[in-house]
Amino acid sequence: MKKLSILLLVSVQMSLNAQDFVINASRVNDLMTALSAFKEEDNNSRVAFSDADLEGRAFVMQKMKEAGLEVSIDFSGNIIGRRAGLDNSLKPIVLGSHIDTVPEGGDYDGCAGSMAALEIAFTLQDLNITTRHPLEFIIYSNEEGGVMGSRALAGTLTEEAFKVVNSTGYSMGEGIVRLGGDPSRVKEVQRAEGSIAASFELHIEQGANLYQEDLEIGIVEGIVGIDWYDFRFGGFANHAGTTPMNNRQDALLAAAKFIQAVNEVALSVEGRHVCTVGRIQALPGAPNVIPGVVNLSLEIRDLSSEKMKSLFNMILERAKEIATASNVEVTYESIDATGAPAMTDASLKKIIEAQINKKGYSYTYLPSGAGHDSQEMTRIGPAAMIFIPSVDGISHSPREYSTPKAIAQGTEVMFQTLLATDSSKKY
Ligand SMILES: [Zn+2]
Repeated sequence: MKKLSILLLVSVQMSLNAQDFVINASRVNDLMTALSAFKEEDNNSRVAFSDADLEGRAFVMQKMKEAGLEVSIDFSGNIIGRRAGLDNSLKPIVLGSHIDTVPEGGDYDGCAGSMAALEIAFTLQDLNITTRHPLEFIIYSNEEGGVMGSRALAGTLTEEAFKVVNSTGYSMGEGIVRLGGDPSRVKEVQRAEGSIAASFELHIEQGANLYQEDLEIGIVEGIVGIDWYDFRFGGFANHAGTTPMNNRQDALLAAAKFIQAVNEVALSVEGRHVCTVGRIQALPGAPNVIPGVVNLSLEIRDLSSEKMKSLFNMILERAKEIATASNVEVTYESIDATGAPAMTDASLKKIIEAQINKKGYSYTYLPSGAGHDSQEMTRIGPAAMIFIPSVDGISHSPREYSTPKAIAQGTEVMFQTLLATDSSKKY
């Protein structure tokens, strides 16, 4: 890992032309390299509440102080670096992301946006700029364990969640204490709706759209909603040797046709929605018994709740047809683990687009298929996200990678977006 870091540093200096950026392109990449050193020994992780997480957070807080921010930890463990504005009666503008990772994760998911925000704090200090709005640089706590810190800010973190134990062995309640928070006072960190002028998050795409199309920046249209259903096909479990082929009520055969139908429905409609059957269980589950019951999952993701509903209705129609033709029964249940789509702010997206055009970068609008802290931040005030390409679309893996140039370009766009938003009368 050490050798690779040195190689990366050399290539940063060779490929980045400092004149192309107001932000310091080398520094933001050096910050990325420095943060990547804080890892659990046996794997490439910085899971929330682990010693590596605490060390990474200490590093970030030290850097925030060096950048002149007033640093505190809220009751849910969010790290908040404040910078006063010219008019502190204005609502704050928020920049940030997370530094915790999944087990066996990478060095870019969350880290890119966190270090970009930190770099912007350093740039403001270098240039002696005081914004009109007060600024808050936030490292959201435990993003990978259910967007914990941003949920606390949005007031959607329930006490039920405190019992959940992650791979470190600590429960969320214990973890919050380890981060310097207080689970009994988490409710106090909630921000009222309308109390933030704007929030921005830079993030790696975690998919391959930008990389494959060779585009430099993505403007996130919104974060997709997720609907989950449990489907059950009920046939008749019977002897596989003595029941003739024309006299069976085979639930698994019907379920197989259903899985095919889900794929066909999804492909028959235009758009970026996705429909997935990810889990299947056939009962009684013996080679010599015709399956009598099959339980399977259905997941639908899209930016439009209406479209998700319409896709579901089409799939349900097909399920009923298949059940009738297969002489089995079909039932379903909607699962209450779902999230509504979260739209990013139209005016902020326009501001981002204008900055990208000034820089001459190539870009597109695209949805985020993964969840992010910004999803929760849209509940508090106008929010927007900037994506940079993930090489080969790989994420949640040690092989996750975004180029130093992409990190610098994304940081520059966020910096210019911050200045443009700050000077706009609308905010
Ligand atoms: Zn992330």
